[in-house]
Amino acid sequence: ATERTALFLFFGGTGDLAYRKLYPSLFNLYRKGNLRTHFAVVGTSRQAMDHEKFRTAVKKSLADTGNRVESKEVTDFASHFYYQAHDVTDTAHYAVVKDLLDKLDKKYKLQGNRIFYLSMAPQFFGTIAHDLKTQGLMSTNKGAFNRLVIEKPFGRDYDSAKQLNDALSESFDENQIFRIDHYLGKEMIQNIEAIRFGNTLVESLWNNRYIDNIQVTLSEKLGVEERASYYDNSGALRDMVQNHIMQIVSLLAMEQPVAFTDTDIRAEKVKALRSLRVYNVAAAATNFVRGQYGAIDDQPDYRHEDNVPNDSTTETFVAGKLLFDNYRWSGTPFYVRTGKMLADKFTRVDVVFKRPLVDIFAFPQSKSTPLAANVLTIFVEPHAGFSLQLNAKTNDTGFQTEPIKLDYLVDAQKSKKTPEPYERLLHDVLKGDGTNFSSWPEVAYAWKFVDQIRRVWDLQEPNFPNYTPHSMGPASAEELIQRDHREWIYRL
Ligand code: NAD
Repeated sequence: ATERTALFLFFGGTGDLAYRKLYPSLFNLYRKGNLRTHFAVVGTSRQAMDHEKFRTAVKKSLADTGNRVESKEVTDFASHFYYQAHDVTDTAHYAVVKDLLDKLDKKYKLQGNRIFYLSMAPQFFGTIAHDLKTQGLMSTNKGAFNRLVIEKPFGRDYDSAKQLNDALSESFDENQIFRIDHYLGKEMIQNIEAIRFGNTLVESLWNNRYIDNIQVTLSEKLGVEERASYYDNSGALRDMVQNHIMQIVSLLAMEQPVAFTDTDIRAEKVKALRSLRVYNVAAAATNFVRGQYGAIDDQPDYRHEDNVPNDSTTETFVAGKLLFDNYRWSGTPFYVRTGKMLADKFTRVDVVFKRPLVDIFAFPQSKSTPLAANVLTIFVEPHAGFSLQLNAKTNDTGFQTEPIKLDYLVDAQKSKKTPEPYERLLHDVLKGDGTNFSSWPEVAYAWKFVDQIRRVWDLQEPNFPNYTPHSMGPASAEELIQRDHREWIYRL
């Protein structure tokens, strides 16, 4: 591995995300040699704490993620961590942090390379970016980089996202801003590009002549858990569709990039999103459906979860149909669905090919069942792999066909070695590679699409709750696809 040189400044450095994901991911990069001697990590948050106590907490976070804390490697790694109490809303406070950064820069010979990671409530993103610049925390060394990493959510509609982006743009250029969508750090999401552009067999059929429809399912088994107050303000459309689903869909829909670089890939994703049909009121109302889970056994319905108002109209389920008005996809819909408290936890993409134009096996006296569609499934999680459904002959006298599956599942040992999304993404930030982050135009198009649906939903009182926990969502999600004489490939 190539050793990288950088100073990390984490805002929200004592938060859940930092301890659970960010520090363990940095440690993995350290173990692999991407970080070695020339790096330092500064954590800030409001609470008071000394460096030692912070290092102990960091070590604990490593222990919690399965590392041996007594090892010299962990002690050496933790010695690069520093803590500074800091209120992000108090401009004068930034000077203290600046002094620490400058000191560490000299101590570890960091050449002025800085990564600012905002892992805290989004209302502070704009203020922090502003003060980083005005209070001189961004490095001015020639040839050094300043990079800003932004957690989700990026706005709650187009207008607020634009406002946030304008605020960030006052201090950072687009190529310095890394907007996290951790789905883009997932192994099998990155595999969409490999399977498409690495295979003649796949990419030559990847269009409306051969593909009947594409289905994207992100289903969760749990309810809202501790995130209730955040979630109730957001809902499944904002929390999952605007970001993760739109990103997955754009990777599936885009044209082949000129080269495998962030600039080229982003250009194609943006182009795809530009041809996504933005619905008018009537079309939004028919092409998107929502749901909210009811009660089961001793579990309360959504409205009776802790921290959820008992008249909440927030959706915990969404299904919808997306249409692209371009040469490749015209007439081939993308169906998407996501929700909480569903039958199982998994993420998958099902690409459903058209049936052969003529079924020569279906002569009148034949008992053969009609030919099944070829389906290419990309399993994202919990298992990683691909499956391709083909038709073959049954091993019988006479001539009948049956669907068979060619399966490739990543084995347990290999998947244990697969880097976690946050490790990949932090590595990308260190390299300055923006491929797996959402660019502003992508975010903007996704919001404009989603805003139209939200607008229609806000006009009508939904009839909630409308689905049983551990099902695949409300009946309307079935009707949405059956209306087009199709069905969900993944079903109970
Ligand atoms: P958290 O509430 O656990 O942590 C927030 C941190 O911000 C704490 O360290 C707190 O001390 C600090 N803070 C709050 N107000 C401050 C102020 N005025 N000045 C200085 N510090 C202040 O939050 P989290 O779960 O770690 O999430 C952080 C970000 O990551 C959020 O944007 C969230 O949406 C996003 N995110 C979190 C998860 C997750 O799994 N936790 C997943 C995806 C995205």
